[in-house]
Amino acid sequence: MGRQRGARVALLLGLICLVPTMMGVERPPGLGDVRDVRTWSYPDYTRVVVELTREVRLPRSGLIRLAANSRAGRPDRLYLDVPGIWVGRRYEEGIEVGDGLLDGVRLGQNTLQNSRLVIDLERYDHHRLFTLPSPARIVVDVYGERTAAPGDASGRLPTELRRVHTVVVDPGHGGRDPGATGIGGLREKDVNLAIAKKLGTHLEARGFEVVLTRESDRTLSLEERTAVAESSGGDVFISIHANASRRTQTRGIETYTLDANHERHSLDVAARENGVPAARLDPLQRALAKLQVGELASHSERLASLVHENMIRGAHRRDKSLPDLGLKKGPFYVLFMSSMSSVLVETGFVTNQRDANLLRSAQYQTELAKQIADGVDRYREQIESGAQPSARLAKGALRVRRNDGNPR
Ligand SMILES: [Zn+2]
Repeated sequence: MGRQRGARVALLLGLICLVPTMMGVERPPGLGDVRDVRTWSYPDYTRVVVELTREVRLPRSGLIRLAANSRAGRPDRLYLDVPGIWVGRRYEEGIEVGDGLLDGVRLGQNTLQNSRLVIDLERYDHHRLFTLPSPARIVVDVYGERTAAPGDASGRLPTELRRVHTVVVDPGHGGRDPGATGIGGLREKDVNLAIAKKLGTHLEARGFEVVLTRESDRTLSLEERTAVAESSGGDVFISIHANASRRTQTRGIETYTLDANHERHSLDVAARENGVPAARLDPLQRALAKLQVGELASHSERLASLVHENMIRGAHRRDKSLPDLGLKKGPFYVLFMSSMSSVLVETGFVTNQRDANLLRSAQYQTELAKQIADGVDRYREQIESGAQPSARLAKGALRVRRNDGNPR
């Protein structure tokens, strides 16, 4: 499987120490299993996702850090006991990471009732631990300054981009984060969720598997969104947003892919959507761009173009004067994934009276959802038939409008 990184390396020694009493021991009844273990390297952290067959209650102590033990040949490491899970000897060889931050990940049977996750560290600053439901996942993000840059990004790109089966739909914001607030108190998070749900229905009707990052008005961090997307094995990621501007006359639809060229014009939109000041985006942006390169970037651009073209066509059925703000690039956190084609759509301005009226209407939401679904469908057709990007869409020839004349 292309996204599961790295060859397994013999970390056998460590595991044998973990499970001396387990050899030949029968598995007790009633335990859950480990379905998969995956890792992703980001500029400032490495993510480990352990997928389980059932939800678990993690110990309150969380991850515990143990200092290196050179006599036992153990590096600095973190461990977490996972109750009610049987892993047996499946991960006894461990998973090599070696990205300048993590050395590797091991899982072993610690007691008959507990599995233990061990993360061997090369560097460490702090970590974040959270769980995700359905399917149950444990997510650990380890932050630190790498001893070396994460290796050649192309090694992590899916080798097979000829399948479009699972679509991850991400309604932006939610819960404590309302996103932009517009005319008559119209909240972006509500518009996003309504369109996303309709989009899910239309995609399913076209035979796609659909995963929504949220299905209700709940708070979800950007890290959780990418974790949901990556660990669902999605082929396409579509983040749904609505725009805002201090200039109430500004309106229209624009579609974003991840910035690879350090363009400055979309920093404000990205800063707002990322929830961080624009100044912080600069170094991050360059690091991000390196990770989504080559074929995957051109696939994302193709997807963006098809989805955008359709959205404009659909919107013009309702309002011929709606401006086409075009395809753009920006340093959006949620698009920063190395495993699938990803786009972010800004469906209109909640701060503009006419856009707000449209975005509020269920028929318009349905029209946009249908058009986005058709765009994904066209993308699937092109990818699965092996069609190359047309000249107009070839890399470098992509029409990218700048919003310089449209400041906000
Ligand atoms: Zn937004």
